[in-house]
Amino acid sequence: MIRPEDGLYAALTRRGMTRRAFLKFGAAMTAALALPATYAPRITAAIERAPRLPVIWLRGQACGGDTEAFLAAAGPSVGELLLDLLSVEYHETLMGTSGEAATAVVTSLADRYPDGYFAVVEGAIPTADDGMACTLGGRPFRDVVREVCNGALATIAVGACAFDGGTPASSGGATGSVGVADVAPDARLVSLPGCPMNVENLTATIAHYLAFDELPATDSRHRPYFAYGGLIHNLCERRAHFEFGEFVLAWGDEGAQKGWCLYKLGCKGPETFANCATVQYASGTSWNVKAGQGCIGCTMRRFWDAMGPAHARLPSTIPFAPTITADQIGLALVGGVAALTAVHGSATYARELRNKVVARRRAAAAGRVSADQLQDDPAPGATEPKAPEPAPSEPTPTEFAPTEPDAIDPAATDPAPADPRP
Ligand code: SF4
Repeated sequence: MIRPEDGLYAALTRRGMTRRAFLKFGAAMTAALALPATYAPRITAAIERAPRLPVIWLRGQACGGDTEAFLAAAGPSVGELLLDLLSVEYHETLMGTSGEAATAVVTSLADRYPDGYFAVVEGAIPTADDGMACTLGGRPFRDVVREVCNGALATIAVGACAFDGGTPASSGGATGSVGVADVAPDARLVSLPGCPMNVENLTATIAHYLAFDELPATDSRHRPYFAYGGLIHNLCERRAHFEFGEFVLAWGDEGAQKGWCLYKLGCKGPETFANCATVQYASGTSWNVKAGQGCIGCTMRRFWDAMGPAHARLPSTIPFAPTITADQIGLALVGGVAALTAVHGSATYARELRNKVVARRRAAAAGRVSADQLQDDPAPGATEPKAPEPAPSEPTPTEFAPTEPDAIDPAATDPAPADPRP
């Protein structure tokens, strides 16, 4: 049950948090939600008054990376704030009880939390063999997720596996794993894909709920726009090197030492929607591109199959021509545009030449130009039209010119490979 005396600010001050640090947290959450700074007082006031939210954290077919991200949220600020913001009532890794006493929490949620609770789901949900690859209290995890999420104030699916099945659902997977949206389609859901999810986005989602009494706006796959509305590539710290054609060509080469762009070593930043480049991990300490490893596209649908291999450019996006790469498609487009430009230039030149000759002949007929002058006119087609400048043979960096984030629905641009399961 939520008790007012357990409000977040009271809990924080008991821990010795200063007012200044608390206001700083409110400002950081406002920035994470991509809201104007004028919203900071509202966000801060809402968090200050907020009761601690009971959270039921379910973990299915997962490596534990999202729990690790949750617990390792850089301290002392964000980690403590998050743990104080939430009252984690059920989490198999964190709770002291086990067995029937623990399971009783998820089977009596309505009685225990009449004012409601938040559900957080980590990991994929097996559905093959009636879901018996993963059970909780002897019941298929699938059924528990459906029941808990449908009764929650809101559900947050954390990580790539809870988003759409993640790596357990990749080709060769035997458990028929899916994400939360597939087993609890009626739940009020926000998905925070990533491998692992960024804990800043989890905190910001909860802060949004507390401040506005509703979940943040999402795309059709439940990913909030504030975190997944823009391409990583557009705000990447190595973007200038991409534009200047300065690429790392081999691990440890001169370009790697100088921090050049990782595009040619398979960085999927130009195809991936997420705020990693701005929020980063570990309280803004670093992220994979900063550390010298390209983006692997882990926030995108079926990323393990669709965005791999990790260190190569994306394979073909044309299903019936699997050997054609995205770079080859770019080259073909550049060549096609150059050919069309040449044809257009030739036609324009020939038309202007013909008009000029006709005008001169009319002038001669009217006696304004001599026959000798008329002979100086070139016959149509006698002179080769000047060809336009040849197009570059390599795709230029502007191939990935910035895209308006607001105009893009990430769901519409996700690669969607065929379901590899039978
Ligand atoms: S390709 Fe990758 S490393 Fe290069 S600018 Fe884009 S996101 Fe950054």
